[in-house]
Amino acid sequence: MNIPAIVIHGGSGTITFGSKDSELKTLYLESLESALEEGFKMLKDGYSATECVCKAVSVLEDCNLFNAGKGSVFTAKGEHEMDAAIMDGKTLKAGAVAGLRGVKNPVLVAYDVLQNTPFVMIAGEEAIEYARQKNFKFETDSYFFSQLRYNQWQEIKGEGEMQLDHSGEGTKFGTVGAVAVDAEGNVAAATSTGGMTNKAWGRVGDTPLIGSGTYANNRTCAISCTGHGEYFIRGVVAYDVSCRMEYGGKTLEQAANKVIHEKLKVMGGEGGLIAVDTSGNISMPFNTKGMYRGMKNSTQTITRIFE
Ligand code: ASP
Repeated sequence: MNIPAIVIHGGSGTITFGSKDSELKTLYLESLESALEEGFKMLKDGYSATECVCKAVSVLEDCNLFNAGKGSVFTAKGEHEMDAAIMDGKTLKAGAVAGLRGVKNPVLVAYDVLQNTPFVMIAGEEAIEYARQKNFKFETDSYFFSQLRYNQWQEIKGEGEMQLDHSGEGTKFGTVGAVAVDAEGNVAAATSTGGMTNKAWGRVGDTPLIGSGTYANNRTCAISCTGHGEYFIRGVVAYDVSCRMEYGGKTLEQAANKVIHEKLKVMGGEGGLIAVDTSGNISMPFNTKGMYRGMKNSTQTITRIFE
């Protein structure tokens, strides 16, 4: 047993850095480390896994390096539409939001849905209205603007294509997520994203769909995914990892590797996931070139981009 523990990701994909980008690489690693630090400190202070994953994800949402919150990609209309979800493995309660615009921290709204409504998911204009009524912080377009995301959008705008934030030459998936097990052995997962560049027609990916991009269950583990959402939805990826443990008797590592390196690959899906079980075992598989990720428990802290 190595609990408590927290694991985070900042997206997977064909992550490339030029020879002059060592500063940028350091920035990514430092941002991951600060989210780990904040989440782990709360775990040490006795907060629940659910409160800690919410905090870690909100820290990453505030950083424009990642495709969530402040750094969200552009939609086909040149807007930012964000999705997020959170799930508590002890109660199996979950909260999710889809298509939020202007909200600074979508994961906080998702957590509010979990705590204060009889629903699991709210979406679109009415969900934005909910966030306003609950006095969540809103930001203007300039807060969400970044030249990198704008350029990514300009490259494919008008072609009717959607692009994952980190896929293709030099581009990236940048969804963020956190999973944790607290001192009492309860697990939780949270994920937040701006989705895919140039997405249209209210497209919603796997991130806010419980069982696809986000799942937690005290009988098994907590999982947060990143990658080409359509494949993760059709593969019901997060729940599949849990099921392989619960019904197939697999370990976390076996279940997570099978889904990412075999099942998803056969389907043609690119991406990765982070997972932690109730004993503090951790798995972070990905079938892309890289995945921004990190873990922290009382014995070690790891942050990585590539292998
Ligand atoms: N899974 C996210 C989506 O399809 C994208 C990502 O992971 O960056 O919306």
